[in-house]
Amino acid sequence: MFESLSEKLDGVFKRLKGHGTLTEKNISDGLREVRLALLEADVHFKVAKQFIADVKERSLGQEVMRSLTPGQQVVKIVNETLTDLMGGAHEALDLSGTHPVPIMLVGLQGSGKTTTAGKLALKLRKEGRKPYLVPADVYRPAAIDQLKKVGAQIDVPVFESRTDMDPVDICRQARVAAHKAGCDTVLLDTAGRLHIDETLMAELQAIREALQPADVLLVADAMTGQDAVNMAKAFDDALHIGGVVLSKMDGDARGGAALSIRSITGKPIKFIGVGEKLADLEAFHPDRMASRILG
Ligand code: GDP
Repeated sequence: MFESLSEKLDGVFKRLKGHGTLTEKNISDGLREVRLALLEADVHFKVAKQFIADVKERSLGQEVMRSLTPGQQVVKIVNETLTDLMGGAHEALDLSGTHPVPIMLVGLQGSGKTTTAGKLALKLRKEGRKPYLVPADVYRPAAIDQLKKVGAQIDVPVFESRTDMDPVDICRQARVAAHKAGCDTVLLDTAGRLHIDETLMAELQAIREALQPADVLLVADAMTGQDAVNMAKAFDDALHIGGVVLSKMDGDARGGAALSIRSITGKPIKFIGVGEKLADLEAFHPDRMASRILG
């Protein structure tokens, strides 16, 4: 992930470090290249602009550290600004409230929602919790079967949803069933469509209203770049999401979604999907990601 951005930034920083002392011109030329690299990585233009302004402001305010060369100092400031851009500290899944705690997964069809439900179940189980999976997409029988298979693979119970049931009823009944089964976390895999539409949003709002989930996670495909950012904004406006799971980061060489979502929506990326296997889910740490980008 981030290969092309990393490579470009590496080039800029090598040139900056090559100078013994840095003039204002060296720095502003370097930052112009950083801005271009961000735009090529499909970072939202407003985010790229603000980013450069923040780096400049920090550079002016910084005391010169004797242990670092001027070039190293710029890299350090870029690293800190990137970390802040992605939210600063890691934000965990909200599991507060009485058991079983409902967690709602939303997103477009194909974004990786069902896979993420399985990944999250596996992760929670490894942390000592007892997850319960709920297929709440009654429009595609294949979606129900897919989640059943995922559940069987990791030995996590799955609610017996039927396509003739109402999605809100499914979620309500599933919570009762999860309680009876001694489970403490209910993962609701809701319906996705190819595009956002009012019917879908109304259904998701009804589930949110009825279940009052502790967290609502939007699963967005990192490879769709700015589309993922627009998606996050639209879902948040309609549904007030708690955070984002950015899936398919393993296939995303650019990184625009990861870098833009926080500042455009104000919502944190909580997890990233890094492969097709159910173990391929990582907690998102802005500082680690910034260091990964800067190599
Ligand atoms: P849904 O329609 O949103 O439920 O999407 P699915 O969970 O069915 O996922 C769609 C496709 O994306 C499947 O082929 C998954 O294996 C794949 N997928 C999901 N997450 C990831 C990921 O993090 N990395 C990769 N490489 N593939 C993923």
